[in-house]
Amino acid sequence: MAVASLRTHLIEELTDLLDAENQLTRALPKMAAAATTKTLKSAFEKHLQETRGQINRLNKALRHLGERPRRRTCEGMQGLLAEGESVMKKTPEGALRDAVMITSAQKVEHYEMASYGTARTYAQVLGEPDVARLLDQNLKEEKAADGKLTAIAERSVNHDAAEEWQSRPEDEGKLIRGAVWLGGAVGSASRELGRAARRAAGINGCRRRSRRTPSQRT
Ligand code: FE
Ligand code: ZN
Ligand code: FE
Repeated sequence: MAVASLRTHLIEELTDLLDAENQLTRALPKMAAAATTKTLKSAFEKHLQETRGQINRLNKALRHLGERPRRRTCEGMQGLLAEGESVMKKTPEGALRDAVMITSAQKVEHYEMASYGTARTYAQVLGEPDVARLLDQNLKEEKAADGKLTAIAERSVNHDAAEEWQSRPEDEGKLIRGAVWLGGAVGSASRELGRAARRAAGINGCRRRSRRTPSQRT
């Protein structure tokens, strides 16, 4: 369908969102299964239920506009989910993998927020308040889901993930070996350097830098 008017653009966007949400209903159960933090697991499960409701609203909105839902692939969502999955697969289970999943889930929520926000406004401009209301409900759920992920990240996952990184034995070994090389000697001086190196790592991983990602500040 050529984009001949704002109305056809809106219909294209709703068709795209319908596929995006369908893709999410397949991804969220995998993310819930892979999550270690209980609150994150239940947030993914809850959002799966919400996503099914969002699909109903999108179908209603399309019917209201006199359109039959068509098949279309949302390449944006496909890309976001593929990228998220490939990083997730490279990360061992635990708080760090939870942080990795929160990163990709928040990217997904922001993509959806942009899509629903613009589509809702087009519906308003086109004099379709019922469609606008349905899209606004979805937008509110996406914002709440994003906010919940931020809260889970800040309450525990970010800190736990940073600690996990600090305590990886390979990293400690590297830091201590580095300190020995710097000191040029073994004994108490190098042990002190090793401690200093570990402290420095601790500061980088946890204290000095903000625990929030930019997305988590929105
Ligand atoms: Fe959604
Ligand atoms: Zn899309
Ligand atoms: Fe969502």
